[in-house]
Amino acid sequence: MRKPSHLTLVVVLALSAALLPTSGGAGVPGAANLPVLPDSPTLLDPKGLGPEEASVVRYVLPTRKRLDAFVDTGVDLDHFVDRVAGGLEVHAIVTPSEVVSLAALGFRPSGVVRSPEDVRSVLAERAIAIREERRVQASHEDDVKVLRADYYEGASGNMLYIEAHHVAGVLPTDLLVATWAGADGTIQGARQMSRFTDSGEYMYHYLSVSVTERPHSVTVLTENLTSDSLDVTDWVAEPPTYEETYLSDFITHFLDPTEAYARIEAIHEEFPGITEIIELPHPTNGYGEQARATIGSSNASNVVVVSNAEGHEGGNELVVRFVDPGAADSPLSVSTGDNEVTVSLATNTVGAVTSTAAEVVAALNADAASLVSAYTYRGDAGAGVVSPAETTLDDGLDAPDHISREPFRVRALRLRGNVQPGEEPRVGVFIYSQEHAREWSTPLVAIEVAERLARNYATDDNTRSLLDTLDIFIVPSMNPDGSHYSFYDYASQRKTRGNHCSDAYHDSGYANSWGVDLNRNFSVGSRFDGYSGASSSCTSSTYSGPEELSEPEAKNEVWLVNEFPNIKFSMNVHSTGNYFMWPPGAYIAEGRVPLPRPTFAEESYFWEAGEHILNHVKAHRGTVVTPARTGPVIDVLYSAAGNSADEHWYNRGIFGWDFEVGTTAFQPPFAEGHEEAMEFANGTIGLLEVARDYANDDSPPTSTFHSSGGDFWFTSSEPATIHYTTDGSEPTTESEVYESGGIRTRDGEIVHSTGGTSVRWLSVDIQGNVEAAQQGTVA
Ligand SMILES: [Zn+2]
Repeated sequence: MRKPSHLTLVVVLALSAALLPTSGGAGVPGAANLPVLPDSPTLLDPKGLGPEEASVVRYVLPTRKRLDAFVDTGVDLDHFVDRVAGGLEVHAIVTPSEVVSLAALGFRPSGVVRSPEDVRSVLAERAIAIREERRVQASHEDDVKVLRADYYEGASGNMLYIEAHHVAGVLPTDLLVATWAGADGTIQGARQMSRFTDSGEYMYHYLSVSVTERPHSVTVLTENLTSDSLDVTDWVAEPPTYEETYLSDFITHFLDPTEAYARIEAIHEEFPGITEIIELPHPTNGYGEQARATIGSSNASNVVVVSNAEGHEGGNELVVRFVDPGAADSPLSVSTGDNEVTVSLATNTVGAVTSTAAEVVAALNADAASLVSAYTYRGDAGAGVVSPAETTLDDGLDAPDHISREPFRVRALRLRGNVQPGEEPRVGVFIYSQEHAREWSTPLVAIEVAERLARNYATDDNTRSLLDTLDIFIVPSMNPDGSHYSFYDYASQRKTRGNHCSDAYHDSGYANSWGVDLNRNFSVGSRFDGYSGASSSCTSSTYSGPEELSEPEAKNEVWLVNEFPNIKFSMNVHSTGNYFMWPPGAYIAEGRVPLPRPTFAEESYFWEAGEHILNHVKAHRGTVVTPARTGPVIDVLYSAAGNSADEHWYNRGIFGWDFEVGTTAFQPPFAEGHEEAMEFANGTIGLLEVARDYANDDSPPTSTFHSSGGDFWFTSSEPATIHYTTDGSEPTTESEVYESGGIRTRDGEIVHSTGGTSVRWLSVDIQGNVEAAQQGTVA
């Protein structure tokens, strides 16, 4: 939208001047220095003149016959013949040496019509025109474009955040400097910007700086002194206030999944009129594990024994004995009894034990397969001789007995008010927490929201209208098995407990590494599709699983959004980092090829709705989710192949968001976890308000046409897709789509056109409300 600054003009004019010809350049003979014609050609050696350039030279020939003789020399003539005083005038295109040769034949020139210098002037004129056209083009594309300039006041002070895109900014040495100024233009500060690259691709420059007062505008300058300016926008400046009577704060300690699910059951018991429990069909693997032991003292002699039964089903009572028979020449044998497996080891002629780990493993798998399976240690050949031992197998699980070891039934609490028989499906919202087990604050967000909605319904108008308008689904822990393991065994557990590891990974030393990263197990932009950010290693913390949707937890999530296709919004609650994100969440690393970006209207909607949600987050204790941490996952965090927000957005058009709650730790002190739950419960209420507005919006958008200098662009009253024509035809929803001005910017594109062009357009909002067609003329 910017016009070139005078600095830009100065630079371009200097460049243009450098291209202008200098007279008589490079010693090439031109018309201005045609040789003074000698009487004898021998006085001039044309060979010393270098490459020759032709001029258009005038000759006057006294008679027609003399003209014929001139033509017979083979001279290159243009089509000019004119009768003049003294005969016939013709124009020859000749080099200086040809002039000399012709002179030797008696043809003397009588002047120069056009010289190479004249041609050079034409070329220079052409070069200047091209340069000027490029300059105009460059000023449109902006050598540098300020994408955002956000000011916010939060718990960490007053901040200015700037992003700018340098068209040529592909080198680390490309510097951008940001300045910011008050309303009167007084510069308040300047700072070099940082350059952000991802997967080898330059993204943008950014700067986050503490300021004492709100700047009015920012200007970003390149080394070439091209520049762009943008007025500063307020970010999350309108946190809402909650009524004094609004009930909140229902969390007193971190909740393990057993407790969290008990809470939604209790809410349902107490408020059956506005709630339902939806049982998701795929039972998880369960918190329970097989019991196991590693028996031996070295990699070569270790035998890994794993019970068939899970620990709580008898595996933990199973005793394995390796026995020295106390006799020479004894064979290797295996016997089994209730809760016991005995291996009588082989001996040699002097009674020494000779059975190797590999032999014991083979014997156990042959003769004790009804109770256990056995493995050498981590793929070792198992050539070491086994020692006598007695070991009780153990599942290693430390949760108290009331934590079920059985497959877990994941459930959703459904909240709706004032349901009428036969009513149309409502706009659905799906809130789900704890895909990642260790993120302990996230179920608190879900439970706090559920409690607030149920308990304020009778008394709070806003809550009542949310429940009476929407169809809300809350799952407090998508990954209960991993989460129980995180609470009671290994706090840093991230994944599910679905173990897809092969034989070499069966010893309990790997117990904390089994499982699938649930947020990498979905079917869009997955590792299997070639996208970046998921691992094929079964022990990696981002293991994708053996195939898309291999895990019951992922199947449950997909089942819910398929079963309730009215779900239009989803919130995938994670921690940490205070991020707020949306699709795309994955790219192919080579060339950083992302999943398709949302349209300009959709992206605008994500931003606009996002600000409403983040205002709610800020309301609790001033936490600002910064613009730097708001946006598509791939632009602000990293590529996460096969994540669930992409699954919902690309397969079903669900506006899929991710929260990353909290600044500190996956398991912060409860006082902090409590605050995180309160502020992101606020944010979730904000999301429900966004969904309610979506449900209630049946009015078309209002779009506005702007134009200047042959360019045009649009703005609209709400996020909307604008379809336009420039050939005078009636616009339809098939007409050209008005695009974004680029990633990270709020603006739409500038369309280059010519003055007087008739533009016709219509706009369609996110809900599909259509504005009547309009017409404008490009200025
Ligand atoms: Zn997470």
